[in-house]
Amino acid sequence: MSDSAASGVRGISVAAAFAGMRSVAPVMFRAGCPDCRGRFELAASALRLAIGASSRTTFYSFTCPECGAAVRKPAGERVVELLTGGGVRTLRLHSTL
Ligand SMILES: [Zn+2]
Repeated sequence: MSDSAASGVRGISVAAAFAGMRSVAPVMFRAGCPDCRGRFELAASALRLAIGASSRTTFYSFTCPECGAAVRKPAGERVVELLTGGGVRTLRLHSTL
């Protein structure tokens, strides 16, 4: 019996737990892969932002869902703002000396 009961219930309890937070829509970021030229949308959790001492060492990275390539792209000020505002995990590469 557990077999038929489980099929439609997957993830329901998690969805219910977040039902009260529905006002915040999941942010999706559009990205493209230079390797396979795929275009797709990524959730904030799929992206990583690394902030260096200068804009030349500030970039964001993700793994292409199409071909699995590790993609790294420079992030300008505006991109940094968008990503951090969207809840992307941020890594600070420089320490303030
Ligand atoms: Zn790709």
